[in-house]
Amino acid sequence: MSEAAGPDDPARILLVEDSETQALELRLLLEANGFSVERSPTAEAALDRLNGSLPDLVVADYHLPGMNGDELTRQLRLSLRTRALPVLMLTGARDGERQGLESGADAYVAKSDDRDLLVLRIRALLRERKAAPPVSEAPGAAGFRRGRVLVIDGSATYRTFLAGLLGQEGHAVAVADGAEAALAALDAGPEPFDCVTLDLLSPAYDGLALCRAVDERRGAGAGGAGFHLVGISGSAPGKDFLVRAYAAGADDVVAKSDAEVLALRVRGLVRRRLLEEDDRRIAGAFGAHERAVERARAEAEAAAARARLADALEQANADLATANRRLTEAQAKLVQAAKMASLGELVAGIAHEINNPLAFILAHQGTVERLLGEMPPQPEETSARALAKARDRVGTMRMGLTRIQDLVLNLRKFSRLDEGERALVNVPEAIETVLALLQHKLGARIAVERDFGGRSEIRCTPALLNQVVMNILANAADAMPEGGTIRIGTRSTAETDEIRISDTGPGIPEDLREKIFEPFFTTKPVGSGTGLGLAIAYSVVQAHSGVLNVEAAPGGGACFVIGIPRQAVSA
Ligand code: ADP
Repeated sequence: MSEAAGPDDPARILLVEDSETQALELRLLLEANGFSVERSPTAEAALDRLNGSLPDLVVADYHLPGMNGDELTRQLRLSLRTRALPVLMLTGARDGERQGLESGADAYVAKSDDRDLLVLRIRALLRERKAAPPVSEAPGAAGFRRGRVLVIDGSATYRTFLAGLLGQEGHAVAVADGAEAALAALDAGPEPFDCVTLDLLSPAYDGLALCRAVDERRGAGAGGAGFHLVGISGSAPGKDFLVRAYAAGADDVVAKSDAEVLALRVRGLVRRRLLEEDDRRIAGAFGAHERAVERARAEAEAAAARARLADALEQANADLATANRRLTEAQAKLVQAAKMASLGELVAGIAHEINNPLAFILAHQGTVERLLGEMPPQPEETSARALAKARDRVGTMRMGLTRIQDLVLNLRKFSRLDEGERALVNVPEAIETVLALLQHKLGARIAVERDFGGRSEIRCTPALLNQVVMNILANAADAMPEGGTIRIGTRSTAETDEIRISDTGPGIPEDLREKIFEPFFTTKPVGSGTGLGLAIAYSVVQAHSGVLNVEAAPGGGACFVIGIPRQAVSA
């Protein structure tokens, strides 16, 4: 409890003394004997000071102005913090001793007593405090117990009398009639003694020698380390005898004639030992509790840290997986974009090369067709047949040339040679127009569901809606020859406008989902598909910095998603 000094630090004594001269004299004496001294002139000031750090011992004058030493001791015994603090009372009055002890002081020294004896008493009190045995940490391990006293006395009568007196005080008393029985009792254990009284002047044994033997046993930890050893002397023992008794290990010497004072002393010191033991147990229990709480807290923190680490690892793994997927996607898109870009250049070159001869072949074909039309009917059958055949072939040539012209037009669209101006386009209206144009393809067999939840106007080239939506819708119709449903939905976020077109056809196998955007990739019969529809759609969407993806629709059909970033198109 006390913030006692370390083993090598001087013991700290609080001196409560009102007289300046006596305080100075005592301070000098105590300091000369190696103690560190603080002084309070009144009991009230002393109590104030004790709110701070605790000394190892209080030496209090019985006569103090205001609250006297007796009341001060009572106050100290009332507080859990100070109740086991040893108090030595100084008094000039003989009957003060009894009062001092009654109030709970641990020792009494008359001011008139020899100063050496005062120092010996102080040393005994401090020694006893240090020698206190350790207390089990388990709360309640010691439980409530009675003080245990060993009475060593050669006289059967006095032994019985003293044992009876102490027994009445509530102590558990053992008796010994001499050295042998006394040492046997101390060695017997396991119950420790709190106090041993020893008649120093018994004719039955050498009192001082036995005192030394008992003290040695105490030093060796017998009989409960740190029991209090009270020597019993004749009335008014001389200084010499007292010094020898203290030197032999007695902590206290009491006159045999004053049995009541002896009983008071024993009661006081037993009480203090029990309080100290209790304090240590409480401190131990608190310590154990605090350590348990601390351990639990540390374990909880470690568990939380482990959980956080695991979470972080899991998160990091998930992040890594996401990053990997994005990287793969980005790589695939880059490859796709690069492929489309180089194909675009190639196609643009070819389209240009074809377009020039095509232009003059078409012109000449027109001229030839016109000239053949202007020729008069041939009288000769052979000539007439040749003319008819020439007209027919020229017509077929026109059909072929028109198809080449369409193809070149598509190639130019794919390579974005015919990119239009951007304008605000009303999405639902544009989609409705495309649907009207495709009506012949859709017929009655294909139902169209609309869900226009996005922004109605977006800024884009008309080709975006006409070409892209048209190509996707035409493909959807082709994919459902037996009929089905096309769903067109629009959605907008702050950043993008999205058009989703799904059908209830067979869908697109996963391994073909990249390929379908390549030019000339088609699964349609020769003559009916060019493989350019989605390639054109892809390149138009890309010109808007957008994305064109294909997913599986809920029913297994294809779902094309056109995503157009707002910033890019409104720029
Ligand atoms: P084309 O229509 O001339 O074949 P596209 O580029 O428009 O060229 O389409 C490429 C291929 O993608 C088609 O041949 C078809 O196999 C596939 N495809 C496109 N849309 C769909 C769809 N809605 N359902 C199933 N397959 C489709």
